[in-house]
Amino acid sequence: MDMQTSFLDRLFESGLLIDTGVDGLYGRSGQFEDVITAFERLIDTFGGADGAEAMRFPPGMNRALFEKSGYMKSFPQLAGTVHSFCGSDLDHMSLLQCMEVGDDWTKDQKATDIVLTPAACYPLYPTVAKRGNLPAKGGLFDLQSYCFRHEPSKDPARQQLFRMREYVCMGTEQHVTDFRQTWMDRGVEMMKHLGLDVTIDVANDPFFGRAGKMMVNNQRDQNLKFELLIPITSTANPTACMSFNYHQDSFGLKWGLNLEDGSVAHTACVGFGLERIALALFHHHGLDVKQWPASVRKTLWG
Ligand code: ATP
Ligand code: ZN
Ligand code: MG
Repeated sequence: MDMQTSFLDRLFESGLLIDTGVDGLYGRSGQFEDVITAFERLIDTFGGADGAEAMRFPPGMNRALFEKSGYMKSFPQLAGTVHSFCGSDLDHMSLLQCMEVGDDWTKDQKATDIVLTPAACYPLYPTVAKRGNLPAKGGLFDLQSYCFRHEPSKDPARQQLFRMREYVCMGTEQHVTDFRQTWMDRGVEMMKHLGLDVTIDVANDPFFGRAGKMMVNNQRDQNLKFELLIPITSTANPTACMSFNYHQDSFGLKWGLNLEDGSVAHTACVGFGLERIALALFHHHGLDVKQWPASVRKTLWG
């Protein structure tokens, strides 16, 4: 049995995560949720004074906007679509028959207008673009959503449905890169208060296929993505618990995000993997929250 399986098993045994029979799809106990709620409060204390506009979207997004985002070009392997039965009485009969004999009943399901949200910030860009030009001081948004990625794994830190808290900044290059640096510093400080060892490193997204290799190189060469890493299931390969992304003007151009003077907005987003941070805390300080160091408990619960 490898390390990953054993941490996952201990999480199941303690009840913190609830097995559903699907790798990466878990229920969470009240205690687990308490940690996430407390951590989100900590995020608020660090970011609250910045005056971000809060928005909450459901974990599904407009399929047409998802198509426009280009997600299927970059990450087709991770996407999840919502399909439904749209047939007649007769189709229903054959559907039930199909299920009865154990055939594939899903093949006649039709795509709906909804796809599963791959990252909390995806529904934001078209929403803001629709409002017209951003004010000269730019825009700052506070998001949280369950996100779906088709990456089943026995690593409890790699789930298929997980929550991402994000801040998204839109403005000039200087403005959004300053924003990103501010949150890198804050992220390190927050984790220090939580007694977690972190490193920050340049990173890349898992762009698909041969064409994706070029995008990986470009992203790394230009330092477009950084991650804050914390050891969870491996010390050799610590887990990304936060990421800091600078999109240059690519989203601004794609969605038509402009500043007051008509220039194309640059954008950056900072994401917290909420389950991963909770798991890092449980891994580092133990599965019993009452046994956590007093300083950590004070940071989270006052
Ligand atoms: P990784 O390299 O581990 O796959 P990522 O680069 O895909 O992570 P992002 O796309 O930057 O991650 O997502 C923002 C944050 O969401 C990450 O920093 C991480 O904390 C969290 N996250 C990403 N994928 C998962 C997942 N499958 N399960 C749980 N949390 C995740
Ligand atoms: Zn984002
Ligand atoms: Mg990933």
